[in-house]
Amino acid sequence: MTRQMMLDQLKADQTFDLLVIGGGATGCGIALDAASRGLKVALVEKNDFSEGTSSRSTKLVHGGVRYLEKAVKQLDKAQYDLVREGLHERGILLKNAPHLAGRIAFVTPIYSWFEIPYVYAGLKFYDILSGKMSLGGSQLLTRKTALKKFPMLKADGLKAAVMYYDGQFNDARMAVSLALTARSEGAVIANHVEVTGLVKSDTRVRGAEVRDRISGESFIVNAKSVVNATGPFCDRLRQLDDPQAKPMVKASSGIHLVLDKRFVPDQYGLMIPKTEDGRVLFMLPWEGHTLVGTTDDPASVNEHPEVTEAEIEYVLRHVRLYSGLDVQRSDVKATWSGLRPLIDAEGKNDTQSLVRDHVTMTSPSGFVTICGGKWTNYRHMAEVLVDRVVADFHLSPQRPCATRNLPVLGGDKKDPGRADRLAKSFDLTDDVAQHLARAYGSASESVARLCRDGLSGRLHPDHPYLEGEVVYVAKQEMAERAMDVLTRRLPLALLDQQAAREALPRVLDLLQQEFGWDETRLSEEMQLAEQRLVHAL
Ligand SMILES: Cc1cc2nc3c(=O)[nH]c(=O)nc-3n(C[C@H](O)[C@H](O)[C@H](O)COP(=O)(O)OP(=O)(O)OC[C@H]3O[C@@H](n4cnc5c(N)ncnc54)[C@H](O)[C@@H]3O)c2cc1C
Repeated sequence: MTRQMMLDQLKADQTFDLLVIGGGATGCGIALDAASRGLKVALVEKNDFSEGTSSRSTKLVHGGVRYLEKAVKQLDKAQYDLVREGLHERGILLKNAPHLAGRIAFVTPIYSWFEIPYVYAGLKFYDILSGKMSLGGSQLLTRKTALKKFPMLKADGLKAAVMYYDGQFNDARMAVSLALTARSEGAVIANHVEVTGLVKSDTRVRGAEVRDRISGESFIVNAKSVVNATGPFCDRLRQLDDPQAKPMVKASSGIHLVLDKRFVPDQYGLMIPKTEDGRVLFMLPWEGHTLVGTTDDPASVNEHPEVTEAEIEYVLRHVRLYSGLDVQRSDVKATWSGLRPLIDAEGKNDTQSLVRDHVTMTSPSGFVTICGGKWTNYRHMAEVLVDRVVADFHLSPQRPCATRNLPVLGGDKKDPGRADRLAKSFDLTDDVAQHLARAYGSASESVARLCRDGLSGRLHPDHPYLEGEVVYVAKQEMAERAMDVLTRRLPLALLDQQAAREALPRVLDLLQQEFGWDETRLSEEMQLAEQRLVHAL
């Protein structure tokens, strides 16, 4: 099913049970939940699936160690419930997307004797809360063992460390896979389609005016219920419904830096629960690189938030402080910034103290908004939201919620031997085989077969991404623009912006052949991609 077929269905004279606005974790999760219950669902996303916050996270599938500490210290039941729910959902996500998500061990260094029982007890409590979904028990490490496992730790003053487990995933591909799984369950999904207005009848919201941002064409989509899952943009949509609606979101920006792999060991991440200024710092191995983050500062809402030099220097300074590594600005291969849509609780002005839970509200005209929460909890948020919409709008699903046991596309079988088999059958190098197995799961053989037909060249000599993948994701995964390919189907731009710039001409060439672009479209695509790669992803 191509994007054009999806657009034709959106334009057809029909009324959907549910129209979802926004193709991030929240919207894609809702579309999948509702479609797999047998409801008639449409989803529109103004950019690409996951182009907003959902491709800019720390890539952790977690309950949130830091939130647990806050829950205990402040006796905050909401934070505690959020951690428990996150730990449960972590297990479900790892089961349903085994190719995209896995376990990672974290080392938390301790520099004061007094803190050893505190940190150890806290992480043990984290284990206990995960119950049957535990990924393995925390362990206290001696100074010597800690330095052996994570040689980049700052040795000076180190007393001990605690090792604990959490989940890690490819957030962008996960959201794209949720969207595509929703499509295979019957949802009509379209990226690069923006909601520009709401359609009302007798004061009730009955659909939306949308604009295809590629062709410029506008049309109307009718629906019995409309859900606003636009994350940091949700107030703008709420004001389309009611211009007097009071804003409820405070955006907070969090940046990440990517360094090459030599800054962390292959199997361990570093978690500093509290930096000198009270923030959490992660250094993780991710996709053959080192991911470092993050910040937490009030920000304005912007589609492609820029990363400032001051933010980069802040993160680098903390890496130097806690690792003893002499990391320099020139070591940074990529940066990006994401916006947390935090719910503005009355009287709380700093974004770090705002609750990371989500809220759902329905306006007098029946416009439903869902906002906030964590990536990890997307499935549960979707289940509760769809239950509510079914009840409030008298919809008739054919089945109850099925997403606890519904693998995402490519995730139907956990298969640890897949990469080895691919390497042998298709004569691939290890890095390419590992990448294909991880990115496409059970579809990886089809991708390898397509690449074998004259498209087995690398897009960049330093990275395992193949030319044939561009064709595959254009045909099968609704990648429409060069940056859809380079950022969210493949993570190249998120890892190495210079390499992405170098790969861009070949990606454009392959997309031109696939879609038959004329020279005007080609040059527009080139300009757009260069702008993203130079200014802000
Ligand atoms: C720095 C950072 C690190 C994080 N790390 C983690 C983590 O490690 N683990 C975790 O569990 N959570 C993490 N989170 C939280 C998580 O990323 C978010 O909770 C989640 O991605 C929010 O998803 P969403 O779908 O609500 O919003 P978004 O992903 O922003 O999606 C909203 C979408 O709506 C679209 N949209 C807006 N307006 C319109 C319109 N008019 N028409 C159509 N579409 C529209 C946007 O383009 C966007 O794609 C992190 C967040 C940040 C910022």
